[in-house]
Amino acid sequence: MALARVYMDWNATAPLMAEARHAMIDAFALPGNASSVHAEGRAARAAVEKARRHVAALVGAEPAHVIFTSGATEAINHVLTPDFRMGRSPLQVSRLYASAIEHSAVREGGRFATEQICRFAATRSGVVDLEALEQSLAGHDRSAGPPMVALMLVNNETGVIQPVSEAAQIVRRFGGLLIVDAVQAVGRIPVDIAALDADFLILTSHKIGGPKGVGALVARGEALMPAPLIRGGGQEKGHRSGTESFHAIIGFAAAAEAALEGLGERISEISRLRDDLEAGMLAAASDVIIHGRGVDRVANTCFFSLPGLKSETGQIAFDLEGIAISAGSACSSGKVGQSQVLTAMGFEQEIGGLRISLGPTTTRDDVAATLAAFKKISDRRRPAGEAA
Ligand code: PLP
Repeated sequence: MALARVYMDWNATAPLMAEARHAMIDAFALPGNASSVHAEGRAARAAVEKARRHVAALVGAEPAHVIFTSGATEAINHVLTPDFRMGRSPLQVSRLYASAIEHSAVREGGRFATEQICRFAATRSGVVDLEALEQSLAGHDRSAGPPMVALMLVNNETGVIQPVSEAAQIVRRFGGLLIVDAVQAVGRIPVDIAALDADFLILTSHKIGGPKGVGALVARGEALMPAPLIRGGGQEKGHRSGTESFHAIIGFAAAAEAALEGLGERISEISRLRDDLEAGMLAAASDVIIHGRGVDRVANTCFFSLPGLKSETGQIAFDLEGIAISAGSACSSGKVGQSQVLTAMGFEQEIGGLRISLGPTTTRDDVAATLAAFKKISDRRRPAGEAA
């Protein structure tokens, strides 16, 4: 009999939720192009604009400030650019300051040249070091243009919530722009663009139960906008050309609507499950290191290291036990790379990180199965230093 699978990798991607699937199936019946003026086109346009309202509501933004993209990576590459317009005037940003724990899409720096990118550090608990940010900005040469700071709201590996509004106060003092990758935050904690004082937020649909390959760049206003990344037919008010990915946008909006509903209760339920899991892990292996435990984390994530267990070995061992977890962030090749986040937190290269991430449909039985696998794998570990 095939082993029952348990999916505990929601930070990699969330299974498509029924609301999104149903909304997309209905949308497949609409034939029009949202840019056409006839009735079919207008019906498609109305559906896209309704979707825009739902995505905007997820982060307290104005619908007019939501630009649909092919996902977070595109939105990041769109906004991480030196070329902006402030109203009708060009505005040149001279440097990008990105935290050392950003997702690789941000760490790559978008359209900035390598020499224009600076990093600021994180502490051992996985929270960015705001003093390091302040020091970097204090050395910024304003005469060349304002600085841009990129700081994620929730780290994809540790689940640690970053002090974005505190960072915003520092960024404002130095006249900079603040870009916030909120990909792992929406649907896990309340997110409000104004409360964060961010200039732009990055979103993606597939982490909240929507389809893959759609996301958004959300702006605080309309005055300050990055140069388009994709030019052509002028869709999305010229900010992102190309016929909208209509069905995916409809699915994204349905997931966004569902993500807001009952968020508080969902957080409590998931954190109860995660806390039970972690209590069981600590009881089973006293040397397990659960990263970010002493600081604010989202409720669904448990990022841990077991001394003597490599990430790759651990991930495969869980998979063989029927549990899908991840080694922090996997490269597109499927190979497990060294966790840049653990390195940024000051951990040795040899320590492996494994991430268990829960979602709205995770059950007590899923947690029990994961814990049983954890115990087995932990007990099987070769004591550190023992020869192979
Ligand atoms: N930012 C964070 C924090 C992520 O976790 C991810 C996905 O893993 C991305 C950006 C990239 O998202 P997308 O797959 O939509 O390009």
